[in-house]
Amino acid sequence: MCSIIGYQGTRRASPLLLNGLRRMEYRGYDSAGIATLDGGRISVRKGVGKVTEVNAAVHLGEMGGQLGVGHTRWATHGGVSEVNAHPHVSNSGEIAVVHNGIIENFAELKRELEEQGYVFRSQTDTEVIVNLLQSSFERSRDPRASVLYVVSRLEGTYSFAAIFPDGTLAAARFREPLIVGVAKDGLFVSSDILGFLEQTDRVVYIDNRQFVVMRGGRLLIADFDGRLVHQELVRVADEIRDADRGDYVHYTLKEIFEQPRTTVRTAEKVAPLAAEAASIIKSADHVYLTGSGSSFHAALVGKYLFSKFGGVSTETIIASEARFAPQRFSPSSVMVAISQSGESADVLEAVAMAKEDGARVISIVNVPTSSLARMSSFTINLACGPEIGVAATKSFTSQLVALYSIAQILGGNGSAQSFELVGRQMSEVLQNHSKVSALAERMASLSDVYVLGTGVHYCVAAEGSLKIKELAYVHAEALPGGELKHGPLALLDSNSFVIVLNPSDLTHRNLVAGAHEVRARGAKVVGISDIPSDTYDYWINIPGTSEELYPLLEVIPLQLLAYHMAVRRNANPDYPRNLAKSVTVK
Ligand code: GLU
Repeated sequence: MCSIIGYQGTRRASPLLLNGLRRMEYRGYDSAGIATLDGGRISVRKGVGKVTEVNAAVHLGEMGGQLGVGHTRWATHGGVSEVNAHPHVSNSGEIAVVHNGIIENFAELKRELEEQGYVFRSQTDTEVIVNLLQSSFERSRDPRASVLYVVSRLEGTYSFAAIFPDGTLAAARFREPLIVGVAKDGLFVSSDILGFLEQTDRVVYIDNRQFVVMRGGRLLIADFDGRLVHQELVRVADEIRDADRGDYVHYTLKEIFEQPRTTVRTAEKVAPLAAEAASIIKSADHVYLTGSGSSFHAALVGKYLFSKFGGVSTETIIASEARFAPQRFSPSSVMVAISQSGESADVLEAVAMAKEDGARVISIVNVPTSSLARMSSFTINLACGPEIGVAATKSFTSQLVALYSIAQILGGNGSAQSFELVGRQMSEVLQNHSKVSALAERMASLSDVYVLGTGVHYCVAAEGSLKIKELAYVHAEALPGGELKHGPLALLDSNSFVIVLNPSDLTHRNLVAGAHEVRARGAKVVGISDIPSDTYDYWINIPGTSEELYPLLEVIPLQLLAYHMAVRRNANPDYPRNLAKSVTVK
């Protein structure tokens, strides 16, 4: 889980690579580095920290050479240190490599290489790749043969890019993303289109078990059996361009504020697809919904909607638990897999298991070219534009829109509803921004927060508490409204804050009772509701709507609260510590 990038062309590589790394920093940010081939020699600059910090220290963008690779790391093997930062260089100094993923058999490969006299400088699994490349390149002097040899030896998941002394850039893909960008004056490889989007929107998607070799502007694509393959050159979709922070201080804030627009856009994009998804679901004996993190919370909302409005019972599975779940999937079942990136390793594994048992897969993704989309029988693209902030915001609401649209059709409502009104109501909620910011000031020093919700609102409480944990580093716990008295009430005292999701639907009275219990212990109550109540110490007003649509509105104050608590606590909301956006490793 990191980003790799490479460039081979007629321009100076390092500023292009640096810019690409900055764009992709959301994917991992323990350390950063660049290697270029300059005057026939590899030169490397790297360091610990974010791209901007490393650049300030070692001026990554000032390196010479028209061939290079770059990396931001999310450490899996070996601590966060300069020596473990990528790129890694082979013992001969001839080849440099950047790698995303995990090499599972690195220990035995390392032993084998050590026996041949290779010396390892880092603790990473990656260093075996570069020395294996060298061992083959020394024999063949052929980058293509070397990559083919290396991929035949590696076990695990990876995409890697390497530069060779003859001016070649080569890259291989196995269960981690890899995309080629074709610009006027050179070729790119990257983990994400954002890595080169400012230079070109013409891309070639590389499949699993394929590798590329680029030299002198020529691109060769082959599979791991050595056969040449053809992949189409395509233009990226318009919404992907929307990756600029604009005037916002943080991407996360920008993405929270984009939701009125992205909600409407997703609804429009999904409308023609929802009927097909609904008919696949209707034809199944069993329907499973899976996802991780926020996408799992969306799955929980989906379960509620499918059952209550669509008359279809479903089972939800946390993707990372699928392997340990008691059930087998059957050929007559359908799995609805939800993932913003479509690259989450846990979701891919759950889907692979379902497919093995013959189940069909509907994926709901924001990247239609992702691994998950490619594994699915049917894909719904959220088209909410790139989400750069590590914490999911607009992708979560777009996922809900997709699930609503399907549920409506399942329930016999011929066409998906218009979300124009919801978009306008979201804008109204966002006008409460300064009120939420003032509340965040009050809550920023807390060590625990509780979020109560009943029915579908519990799923939103779970999502809101995840936002508070990941952005503000404050322990937050979601509880179904009625559960407080069965234990957690013991934790409350006059220093506690309890947020209640309390819209004026059938759950309202139940939650007011819960709020009274909280107040009786001297704790503070923050009510998120369309109607006031004297049980609230703080009231965040949202517009009134129907039960099933409240989640789209009530999650916004929770996102804003988490964002402002993070800012008040001097945490960077775009890059929460220890996290990365698409968790492509197990
Ligand atoms: N496994 C490699 C490392 O720990 C790559 C991790 C990544 O994908 O950033 O250096």
